[in-house]
Amino acid sequence: MSKEPIDWKKKYKEAALEIDKLEKSQNNDQLRLAVSHMTLGLQGQSPDLDEALTSLRNTLNSVTQAPPSKKIIANIEKHIRKLDQSREDTSQAITGAVIDWVHQLKKHFSVGATELNTLAELEGVTADSVERLYKFPPLINSLVAVQVKVLASMKTELSTAKSQLAVDVDLSLIGSELIQLIGVLNLTREGRKKAHDLVVSIEKGLTLEQLTGVLAKVVELAQLAAVTSNEDFENYLINLNTQLVEVQGFLEESHTEQATAGDAHKQLDQQVRNDVGTISKVVKDSHDLSELKMSVSSQLLEIVRAMDEFKRGEEDRDERLHTRYDALMQHVLEMEEETKRVKAHMEEERLKARTDSLTGLPNRSAYDDHLNKEFERWGRYKQGFSVAIGDLDFFKRINDTYGHLAGDKVLRLISRVLLRNLRGSDFVARFGGEEFVILMPATEAEEGAKAIEKLRESISKSPFNFHGKPVTITMSFGVTQTRESDTKDALFDRADAALYKAKQEGRNRVCIG
Ligand code: GH3
Ligand code: MG
Ligand code: MG
Repeated sequence: MSKEPIDWKKKYKEAALEIDKLEKSQNNDQLRLAVSHMTLGLQGQSPDLDEALTSLRNTLNSVTQAPPSKKIIANIEKHIRKLDQSREDTSQAITGAVIDWVHQLKKHFSVGATELNTLAELEGVTADSVERLYKFPPLINSLVAVQVKVLASMKTELSTAKSQLAVDVDLSLIGSELIQLIGVLNLTREGRKKAHDLVVSIEKGLTLEQLTGVLAKVVELAQLAAVTSNEDFENYLINLNTQLVEVQGFLEESHTEQATAGDAHKQLDQQVRNDVGTISKVVKDSHDLSELKMSVSSQLLEIVRAMDEFKRGEEDRDERLHTRYDALMQHVLEMEEETKRVKAHMEEERLKARTDSLTGLPNRSAYDDHLNKEFERWGRYKQGFSVAIGDLDFFKRINDTYGHLAGDKVLRLISRVLLRNLRGSDFVARFGGEEFVILMPATEAEEGAKAIEKLRESISKSPFNFHGKPVTITMSFGVTQTRESDTKDALFDRADAALYKAKQEGRNRVCIG
């Protein structure tokens, strides 16, 4: 900036006054000279004014020395006014900008008390400078000085803030988060090697300078992982397809059983196949993971929709199936009941077949089974047993005297006495007619004979009454025990022989064979 700028308005007024004075003094030469000087002083403010001033000078310097026309003067006046106006606009614009600047400095930056005073001073001066543009350059210089100070203090604050930032932003935290991120990436073997190296370097400690490079490497790994994801996804889809084919197989199987479901199954199968096909194609063609995800999601949604629709149809069919199933279950239950009933009946029949209908004692067939078991046990554990055969004495006479029904009654009564006087482990059966057979496990003949003796005695003492008359009923027994290399028949024959002996010896007795 050169010297103090010229106040053109002031100068013009001064010049005009001088012209007026000179005009009045009729000193035309001096007037011309002054005007000419003034026009030179005004030169360079605006092209139009320059032109008007040149025209004025030419007129003043012309040979005729005629005074300048009113038109030229009016033209100059007009341009001077314009100049004045634009200068005021400029002044106001600069003032506004400077006041803004001051405000911004006050508002945004923590300026010290000295700076604040300077700024307040500057504000006052600015408001007063509208008419004096020449005051702006030193004003702006002062503002710049304040700004430099403010910036210097800001720099200090900024560097303090920076170190604060370094403390706040814990890089080890970022490091561990990055390690975690790397950990979840789905990487190939090559990617895993890179990831390992990167993790090792992060674990050594991150610096701000390293951070950008490390982040770039993580991004690189993430890209590798994205490729892996695609492969994985494709594998997943292949598996999904396999599963769907299996489901399809199952559906087809049930289709043969349930004709009505066929169409829905086919539709679903077709839909799923189409969708899976589209997904596989998209996976193969796509290079953009997010585009791929979107396509796959929409295809999967389609599959889900088709499945839902199918499910609804299935639910209807399910209900019909349920009704059928319930009926079927009812039928099965009935069949089960029937089976149980038949089984019980058969068991009853079987028991009947092994039971003597008159006395309710096991019959000969049951005796045979029992004898077989005892024989097996004897063979296996060498645990011998005894057999006793009992025969009612002179039973024919009972029948003959009191009738056959009375004879039956005696058979039933004798059966009860037998059952009552034998041990729980003993077995008694009606062998036939008025003959009974008793098996006594783990019992020798002597011991067995003693038990049978008690039995015989109790029978002989039993009070039988026929038509109000007491009648004595006796029984003879033959007892024997198993012997080495015995047979069932030999065993029985010995017992029978002992019975025969008891009969021979007078009846109502027990003989050991
Ligand atoms: P013993 O002392 O020698 O044995 O003479 P017993 O009369 O008992 O022998 P016998 O063999 O001569 O007669 C057996 C009789 O038993 C013949 C038959 O009428 C009778 N009897 C066989 N079974 C039944 C039956 O179920 N009910 C009746 N009431 N009598 C029967
Ligand atoms: Mg007999
Ligand atoms: Mg008899």
